[in-house]
Amino acid sequence: MKILIIGLDGASPQLVERWINQLPTFKRFKEEGTLGLSIPPAPAQTPVAWTTFMTGKNPGKHGIFSFAMRKTGTYERRIIYPELIKSKTIWKIASEHGKKIGVINMPMTTPKEIKGFMIPGFLHKDEGIPYPSEVQKRIRKKLDIEQIQGDLETEVLGKVKQDPDNFFKRIHEITDQQSKVSLFLLQEEKWDLFATVFMGTDRIQHFFWKYIDENHPEYEHSKYCEETKKYYMKMDEIINVFLETAPGNTTTILLSDHGFCPIQKEVLLNNYLQESGLLKMRDNKIDLKKSKAVSYGYGDIWLNLKGREPHGLVSLGKDYEKTREKMIHDLHKVRVDQKYPIKMVRKREQIYWGPYVDEAPDLLVFFNKGWQAARHPEIDTIKRRDKRYVIDNPRWSGGHDGAHDPQEVPGIFGILGPKTHCEEAKCNLWDLAPTILHLMGIQISSDMDGKPICSIKS
Ligand SMILES: [Zn+2]
Repeated sequence: MKILIIGLDGASPQLVERWINQLPTFKRFKEEGTLGLSIPPAPAQTPVAWTTFMTGKNPGKHGIFSFAMRKTGTYERRIIYPELIKSKTIWKIASEHGKKIGVINMPMTTPKEIKGFMIPGFLHKDEGIPYPSEVQKRIRKKLDIEQIQGDLETEVLGKVKQDPDNFFKRIHEITDQQSKVSLFLLQEEKWDLFATVFMGTDRIQHFFWKYIDENHPEYEHSKYCEETKKYYMKMDEIINVFLETAPGNTTTILLSDHGFCPIQKEVLLNNYLQESGLLKMRDNKIDLKKSKAVSYGYGDIWLNLKGREPHGLVSLGKDYEKTREKMIHDLHKVRVDQKYPIKMVRKREQIYWGPYVDEAPDLLVFFNKGWQAARHPEIDTIKRRDKRYVIDNPRWSGGHDGAHDPQEVPGIFGILGPKTHCEEAKCNLWDLAPTILHLMGIQISSDMDGKPICSIKS
């Protein structure tokens, strides 16, 4: 059996359901196969979620907890990259079993140790450059494309408010190019396991969610809701072309890494930490050496731990536990505009398991819909007493990662194949890797967290 995966970053099950009668291919999945939900890991962030998909594991076993990670023995952070994943991916496992793989534009992928071809996606240094060079040559010769544009250019993202029409125009152009290259490779190259991930849905929804979701507190009727629907309809057509083009023994999987919820306000966790005396300032900057706790963004909280941080102040054991307990207790009481922005606070060992739990933040703060953590460690930007924890107008009106309860931002999951039968329409993202391996007849290693949710019809 061949497996074809079509990824739509951030595609929302809520929107697919709402527009299902104008999305005939999604409807076909629903009627002839399975269409349901996939629950992302925490945090429901693009690099963390795709890594969980590829490894079949929770972050405690693959070691990717956010966009950035701590440089060991320092207070500095660095942006993550695919080579940091501490677990085998399905690409590597399938390659070891003699299968040919083809992966296009999936975040956090690296062509290292794979058999087949790849165009690395978001967070790889060679994003968009086809590998190996023979495949690159064939794409250049046949399609006159040197490198694919996997995501929107920074300039276009920066000008989304001034020029939203250009934003949509570029998204369509980028999608068309990727679709063309993907179809070419699907037809011309040998493969057993093929995946291509489109980023458009995620980008649109971050900026335009308040025009789409009527439950958004700032909902406004606008043509951009229709524009978003048009993009889903375009993706529906593209998926249909893939179904028509793939060989008859192919099982096709539709997938998003997370969904979306409304965002209206951002909470500055460091302002809270400063007020509670855990964070100290010096010359208008956070004094990391003198602070007991700090947030680097996205709802994480790190203690200044003896033996881990260079100037640790909190000892592991009683001191560590007491500090965490107090913060959990106090954070639940944070109120802004008479509302409670924080849904829950969890210790790392409550949500992760595996050899790398120690590399996770000490606490993770999850927000109610409408709120998210500030993405950067700002502090003291707002002096007004009643607004001391909050930014009222974040750049984005839709979110998923800052951080929300994964159950509240599920992604889509669909499967369709002549010989495939699924028992469930709701799964965890880590169930997909074991499901794919099972369908391909490859043994599943016992340390994967997921289990196969589909079987082969006899
Ligand atoms: Zn994503």
